[in-house]
Order: sequence, then structure tokens, then C-alpha cells
Amino acid sequence: MTTERVDVLVVGGGPVGLFAAALLAARGVRVAVWERRDAPPVGSRAIGIHPPSLDAFAAVGLDTAVLAEAVLVRTGVARSRGRTLGTLSFDRASATHPYVATLDQHRTETLLRERLAPGVLRTGTSVTGLDRQRTHVRAHGTGPGGEPVALEAAFVVGADGARSAVRDLLGVGTTGRDYRDRYVMGDFADPEPADARSAALVDVGPGGVVESFPLPHGRRRYVALVPEDVAPAAAGGAPDPQTAARLAAIVAERTGATPDPATCTMTSGFRVRRRAATRVGVGRVVLVGDAAHEISPIGGQGMNLGWLDVADLAPVLADAVASGSAGPWPGYARRRQRAARRAGRQAEANMALGRPTGALGASGREALLRAVLALPTAEGLAGVYAMRWA
Ligand SMILES: Cc1cc2nc3c(=O)[nH]c(=O)nc-3n(C[C@H](O)[C@H](O)[C@H](O)COP(=O)(O)OP(=O)(O)OC[C@H]3O[C@@H](n4cnc5c(N)ncnc54)[C@H](O)[C@@H]3O)c2cc1C
Repeated sequence: MTTERVDVLVVGGGPVGLFAAALLAARGVRVAVWERRDAPPVGSRAIGIHPPSLDAFAAVGLDTAVLAEAVLVRTGVARSRGRTLGTLSFDRASATHPYVATLDQHRTETLLRERLAPGVLRTGTSVTGLDRQRTHVRAHGTGPGGEPVALEAAFVVGADGARSAVRDLLGVGTTGRDYRDRYVMGDFADPEPADARSAALVDVGPGGVVESFPLPHGRRRYVALVPEDVAPAAAGGAPDPQTAARLAAIVAERTGATPDPATCTMTSGFRVRRRAATRVGVGRVVLVGDAAHEISPIGGQGMNLGWLDVADLAPVLADAVASGSAGPWPGYARRRQRAARRAGRQAEANMALGRPTGALGASGREALLRAVLALPTAEGLAGVYAMRWA
């Protein structure tokens, strides 16, 4: 039996792998995606879509599709103990998209899947082996019925997430650290007053941060730093009534807003890790997204960082396919590792800003934020949050 051959095999059909495949296909590259899950996308997990990603989406018409469903967040408001400390406007954060869009991850993934021709995405298929040759890579895996599958590709893109099998198969390690911070998040009917409905709200009171973001269909995502005694919420995303009630109580106590637990459609909990692969690629295999770098979700840049990896990689890879070369990974690796370090540092700063503090510390933090947000340079800060640097 002859083995199927494609130009690029993408392992992992999460947001980053799907976008990689769509961009490569748009450049005429023959591509296949192996995705372990066989169920359609579910859950609202990563919601923030930043201007540089929307710019990159234009190559496959995804910007229009996303914007037709997303909420556009035009301002970020910092608050503490019931008072507004300052407002950041995203007006000047991008010439094309002066806002951060929010959309549930399952919708973003569905829109991405719709960009692929039939047969490109093979669900229920996991990679288990990579046989790296000089001219191609032979990938082995298991298909939806547990049957062995194989495919030859000129290049393989490892987009299989933080616990990447591709990274392990390459023998590439990671560096990084675990943080003590624990967060719980949930999506509720938006209880904020009408004038705050389209704003991102960040409450940095003494009890610890509560961030919230508007979502489509009149919902709001709350994320709160929680003490150790709050039972860890399952990461799955199905709403857990106890977690919803506890999160609603924390939000009410720290911010005064009163989300109704009965309206909760998702709860989830997470601890924070930062990881970077020690190498971004080996030979004809390259790592992207969380497989290459995992950063704290606080700040909402991880998925965007991955999309920008593949926006950078797609033309490089398409050229390598066309010319038959092995691909100039070093330049790509340098650029993307630099971007990941920057986003990681920013996420760390966001977490530090939101840690609990005594009343005196809170007053100092409030004064500092008031001063920083009143400066003319605050505009630049909005650009940092909206990844203008990316
Ligand atoms: C709570 C939370 C909130 C977040 N919010 C945001 C946000 O608002 N904005 C933002 O930018 N980022 C956010 N992030 C980060 C974001 O979720 C990740 O950075 C993003 O999902 C990474 O995408 P990915 O495609 O690289 O990996 P993943 O989303 O992990 O996708 C990897 C895919 O590979 C598949 N796979 C795994 N192993 C195999 C295998 N052996 N064979 C085949 N397929 C395999 C998996 O099934 C999965 O579909 C958040 C993260 C968390 C935890």
C-alpha cells in the first residue's frame, strides 16, 4: 500500500494548528491536520483576539467572520475598592482594529475549521511516532478506530499544545517555572451597568484581582485570583454550581458586581505555568503555539502568540515547500522566542499587579495605577495590552 504524501502535516487541530493549516492551504500548500479529539469544539476557554491576529486573519477571510460574532472591547478600566483608577482606550492601539475582540474559543475554532477544505482535518487521529528523513518526515499515529495510520510530509508542524507529543518525539525539553497563583473563571449573564458592558474591567483591590470581559450574547467572563481554600474547579468547562456560587460571591465581595450563579454557563480553574521549548524546531519539524511556549492566561495573549507564530511561519514554510529546501528555522526561531519572552514577561507583570496586598499596599498600588493611567504614555500601555508590539 502506498503512503499518502502531503507537503505539511500539522499535528494538533486547536486554534493554532487550524490557523496554520488555513494559511498554508491559502498559499497552495497541500496540508493535512491530525487532531486527537473526535468531538466538535466546545467551551469558551480563550476569548481575547488581539489586533495583530485580526490583521493576520484577513489572509483567509477570518477577520470578517470573527468580527460578525465577536464583542469589540474598546476600553479597559482599572478599579479598586469601588473606585475607578483610570481608563485605557484601545483607539490608537491599531490602525485597522482599534479594539480587542472577544469570542468563545469553540466558535473561533469552528470558524477556523470552516476555512479548511473537506478531508484536510482528520479528527480522532493522534501522532505516536515521527521518523525524520533527509527529504521528508514519516509520521505514524492511531486513527479514530484505533487503527494505525501513516503519512509522509515534507514538513511537520507541531501544534499539539502544552503537553506536546511532537516535542517529546523530537527529544526537545522545556524550561520554565510554576507559579503559586490559582484562578477560577466563569461565564455569567453580564451584571455590570450598561455603560460598562463593552469594557474590560480589572479590579485590583486588596483581596486579589478580578478581571472581567464582555462576551457575545450579553455574557461576561469573570476571572478571580482565589485563595488556597477554594476547591479547585475542574478545567473542563462544564458549569459546576458550587464553583459558580463561590466565584459569584468573590466577585461581589471584591467588586460590588453581582453575577447570578444560576446564569453561569462555564466554570473552570487553572494554575499558572510558564514554559518554553529549548528548541523551536529540529530539521523538518517545527513547534508552534503552546507546544513551543506556554504563558500565563492572565493577559490573554497565549493563543494570539501562537497565531502570530504561524502567520510568520506560513510564508517561510510555503517557500521551503516550493524550493524543496529544508527551511531556514533560525530566523523564525529567534523572532518567535523573543515574542514569547515578551508576552511571558507581560503576563507575569499582570499577575504581580493582581496579587493580594494589605490595605497600605493597596493604597500604594492604587496611587501608582492612577498616576500611570493619567500619563500621556498610557496610550502606549494600551498598545502593549493589545499586542501592538507583536
Ligand atoms: C483558562 C484559560 C484562558 C485563556 N484565555 C486566553 C485568551 O483569552 N487569549 C489568548 O490568547 N490565550 C488564552 N489562553 C491560552 C490559550 O488557550 C492557549 O495559548 C491556546 O489554546 C494554545 O493553542 P494551541 O493550538 O497551541 O494548543 P491547544 O489549544 O492546546 O490545542 C492543541 C491541540 O492538539 C491536540 N493534540 C494534542 N496531542 C495530540 C496528538 N498527540 N496528536 C494529535 N493531536 C493532538 C489537542 O487535542 C488540541 O486540540 C487561555 C488559556 C487558559 C487555560
